[in-house]
Amino acid sequence: MKCSVCENPATIKIERHRAKFCEYHFIEHIHRQVERVIRHFKMFAREDKIGLAVSGGKDSMSGWKILRDMGYKVVGIHINMGFGEYSERSAEIVQNFSVKENLELSLYKIEDVLGFDFATAMNVTRKPPCSLCGSLKRYILNQIANDLSLDVLATGHNLDDESAFLLGNVLYWKEGYLRRQYPVLQPEGNMVKKVKPFVRLTDDDMRNYAHVSGIEFYSGKCPNARDVTTYVYKDVLNDLEHNFNDIKTHFYFGFLKHSHLFKEPSLDVSIHKSVHYCPVCGYKTLNEGKCLVCSIKEKVSSDLSHNQ
Ligand code: AMP
Ligand code: ZN
Repeated sequence: MKCSVCENPATIKIERHRAKFCEYHFIEHIHRQVERVIRHFKMFAREDKIGLAVSGGKDSMSGWKILRDMGYKVVGIHINMGFGEYSERSAEIVQNFSVKENLELSLYKIEDVLGFDFATAMNVTRKPPCSLCGSLKRYILNQIANDLSLDVLATGHNLDDESAFLLGNVLYWKEGYLRRQYPVLQPEGNMVKKVKPFVRLTDDDMRNYAHVSGIEFYSGKCPNARDVTTYVYKDVLNDLEHNFNDIKTHFYFGFLKHSHLFKEPSLDVSIHKSVHYCPVCGYKTLNEGKCLVCSIKEKVSSDLSHNQ
């Protein structure tokens, strides 16, 4: 098997592009895919200060090196959510990698940023753990992006993540989510610009990239994660991909091309809940009155004063 670009033996085959690459040209191909997304969606420029949320998993770890090697100014942001061994190991892997590759890193603990820990937040809200964790992480990342005066905040979501998410949203016609599912969310008030530069790369691409670049990543499962639907959707899409070449790209990018159709007014109740800005911190929220984080803070401080 010969590389599609040069005379060297190919070690990586990318079925959907009908291409085979040696390691050098595989990396070049990955950079080209990412550059294409960054430019097409006007995500950021060379001089921008980019924060990349790094979890320790293959996508964000590979993405971190990809962006830096492409010449972008990127700082990794890791949040330790305090989930025991899982969080300790993730933080350690992220830290070791930043030292090894000389990558800039900012590390935070949930309680140091918000003033309460995850268990406390669980006690005062009735949200399922994954959804609560997601909301708190989004809030923390936004706050850090503001504190560090970043131009844009990026996450490691890839094509498999986004197409699985899209499938779920279509199956249940979650119009509110469909309306917001886009790889760029523009800044608004205190909300920083958010981007997903790796939406042209798959789980396999990210794993292969980590492998050829010698990146150690963490594949442990979060102890709180109970939601298996994403894995089911990913399996379904991979089965489809087996029969219909590049169907995931068609599905996701086809949706983006038609996303204006979902901007129409609809009967979906979720959009009748008006989005507004929290009167305390100024962040965007669907909650009535204060945002989730400010409500938790209020509850925690009133519990404290009752116990004194
Ligand atoms: P997940 O929902 O775990 O698949 O993560 C999706 C993306 O969110 C990752 O690619 C990261 O960019 C970001 N992320 C997840 N967990 C963390 C964390 N603890 N700290 C920083 N970023 C995270
Ligand atoms: Zn708030």
